[in-house]
Amino acid sequence: MAFAFVSGDPALDLAGTVGSRRDEPVDLLAAPADLERWVAECDDLPGGVTADLAGFESALSLREAIYRLALDRVLDRPFDPAGLEIVNGTAAGPVPTISLSDAGLHMSGDLLSVLSQIARSGIAVLADPHACLKECGRAGCTRIYLDRSRGARRTWCGMDECGNRVKAAAYRARRRASTTAEGRGPR
Ligand SMILES: [Zn+2]
Repeated sequence: MAFAFVSGDPALDLAGTVGSRRDEPVDLLAAPADLERWVAECDDLPGGVTADLAGFESALSLREAIYRLALDRVLDRPFDPAGLEIVNGTAAGPVPTISLSDAGLHMSGDLLSVLSQIARSGIAVLADPHACLKECGRAGCTRIYLDRSRGARRTWCGMDECGNRVKAAAYRARRRASTTAEGRGPR
């Protein structure tokens, strides 16, 4: 399955690499190579990092901590202390270096700095009282995203990921209902 970067923040996108968390979780990060690919595909992070097993495990524990804290925000309850400890501890690490050129911003760093960058980004979102965090409206998706739309009217994590699927399912259900109704009509 392809990675989706639709949550509006790399920390939330990392948390979103586990889908269907309440039913049958689907984990897109099964091995360090998956994490390397995810980091490379994320626009807001340095490219070309390598992940060993220890770094991979740190990334997974950061991911789960971010998810717990994001869910705490969605449910408007106090943050989980163990989650805070992991995210704050990771954020205290070295950060990637950035440089400016005519090509724009270039970011470089190793996996440790990438995780720190993700944690810092997550803290900024989770600490922002104006940030509108929502869980995707498709039953079973469980992805938490940042709704930056006007009036915060977004319902789905992404149109391709969930919105179109829900609309297609509703269309099929309407068709089924109208076919059944026709079948019951006068002959
Ligand atoms: Zn979704």
